[in-house]
Formats: sequence, C-alpha cells, structure tokens
Amino acid sequence: MNHDARDAVSVLSENGRHFLMSALGEIDRDTETGNRNAVVFSAAAVEVLLKTRLALEHWTLLFDDPARAKLQDLKNGDFVSVQASRLVQRLNNVASLGLETKRADQIFKLRNRMVHFGPGPKIATRLEVSRSLGFALDFLHDHLLPELPDEEQQRLEELKTELTATFAKIDDFKAGRLRDLKAELGTHAIVITCPDCQQDALVIDGDEDENRCLFCLALTGSEELAERYVSDILGWTWTSIAEGGTEPLQECIECSGHALVGPIQVVNRPKISYVCFSCATTLEETDVDWCARCGDMKRSNGDSLCSSCWRVVLPD
Ligand SMILES: [Zn+2]
Ligand SMILES: [Zn+2]
Ligand SMILES: [Zn+2]
Repeated sequence: MNHDARDAVSVLSENGRHFLMSALGEIDRDTETGNRNAVVFSAAAVEVLLKTRLALEHWTLLFDDPARAKLQDLKNGDFVSVQASRLVQRLNNVASLGLETKRADQIFKLRNRMVHFGPGPKIATRLEVSRSLGFALDFLHDHLLPELPDEEQQRLEELKTELTATFAKIDDFKAGRLRDLKAELGTHAIVITCPDCQQDALVIDGDEDENRCLFCLALTGSEELAERYVSDILGWTWTSIAEGGTEPLQECIECSGHALVGPIQVVNRPKISYVCFSCATTLEETDVDWCARCGDMKRSNGDSLCSSCWRVVLPD
C-alpha cells in the first residue's frame, strides 16, 4: 500500500470508529433524539467502514467513477464518492466478500427516512440501530480487522470489544442480536452457551483450533474452551471430585483429544449428553457406558471391557 492509500485507510477507519463511538453514546441516552442520532451515526459508521475496506483494495475505488480518480482530488476531499447503496456490490465485485446486499440497503434506507422524515416508533428504531451495529461488528471482525495495518487494527479491536459489551449489557440490543443470529445458529448442529458472553451462541463445528461464538465473536481452541466451559458454565472445580462427582472433561473416545465434555446442554438437542469440542462427536447417554476394568468411557456395545483392556486380558 502506498503512502496516500495508507492515509486514506487511516482517516476512514478513524472516522468509522468516531461514528460508532457516537452511536454507542446515543444509545445509552435512550431518548427520542438519541435513538434517532444513533440510526444516523451507525449508518455513517457502516458506510465508512465499508469504504475503509474498499480503500484497502485501491484508493481509486472510493470514487464514483474510478476511471476518473485523481490523487489530488482524494487529498483535497474534492470528489464524488461511490454511493452508499453501491458499496456492498462494489466490495463483492473487487474483493469477493460475498456480503448480503439486503442488510446494508436497509441500513442506508432507514438513515434516509430518519434524516428526511423524522423518528419512527421507539422499539423499531432501537431494533434498527442494533441491526446496524451488529452488521458493523460482524463486518469489522470478518472483513476489516484481519486486513488493517497494526495501528488501526489495535484501535478498532478496542472498539469491537466495546460493541460486544454493549450487546451483552443492554437488554433490547441483546435480544435484537440474538434474533438476527437465529437463522444462522439454526444451520449449526451443535450450539452451546459461550463462557465469554454467556449467550447460547457458541458453535462447535469440529474445527480444533477455532470454535466461534456468533454473538461475541470470540474464537477459542477446543481444549482451552473445554476447560473454560467446565469451570465457567458447569461450575466444576477439583473439589467437586472430592465431593464424589466425576470429572466432566475427559479424553474423547473418537479423536483422543482432551475435549469431551458432559453432561452438557446442547441448544435444541436435549438428548445429547456429551460433546467433543475437537471433533464434534456427540453422544447420548445410551451411546456410552464405562469399562468394568479401567473405568474409562467406551461406546456401549454389549462388551464389559474397553478395547485396550481386552488387549491386556486376552493377549494374542
Ligand atoms: Zn460469546
Ligand atoms: Zn473428539
Ligand atoms: Zn478399560
């Protein structure tokens, strides 16, 4: 990236941060004016963050007509920039981001309505702000942060943390984000409670290195996640063993990872009792029993011993 493009990215990302912070400040006030301002600020933030990503591809893409882009015009801020309504399409064309155009369209249309015709009902307005901020949060995480230079990345990481905290702390925002995530959560077979944000939004897909929470976007490796889940969600400690409990974390009978957790609650699948956070194996209570010799978990197959114990007692 040359010096001028770098400047454009830096200014745009700083403006995006500014508008998002302003929107967050207005949400806290929760007044009619505050909510209306939050719609306008959050839409401005989405527009500028999308433009930051475009500038990372090439500064000429910020112009309505890139063929007529001049560096001096960019420096002076004297040019017709690409329309908000065309940003997502342009990003999808040049960077193959596969973004949904509908959500961004709604955000920009609502901003226009608010600017020209004033506020709508309070509940609808807050829901729309939560949608815009959710879009900004997901876009930041998925498409912008990984591409940004270090300094801008650090500033926007802090903002991401603040956005996540806002969703977790304000009830109507939490409900709005969970409603927006419902369809996507429905496409995952294993959804559990996240130890970071306590929402039922952490998906286990068999990726050993990265288990993702769709609500707070935390990424955690399987074995670390398993340890945190048993202590933070199941409330298990080593003293639980002294009190006669069995350890809810053990070696997986399929992949041998130390990440098989149970008894566990899987959202919408009440029959599941055990989940391996590494390989995503799920087991019901009737799928397993315990080896009569070593006490390890095994698949229930009518045998009283596990395969390693059979090898010991019946050497060939
Ligand atoms: Zn979370
Ligand atoms: Zn496993
Ligand atoms: Zn055994």
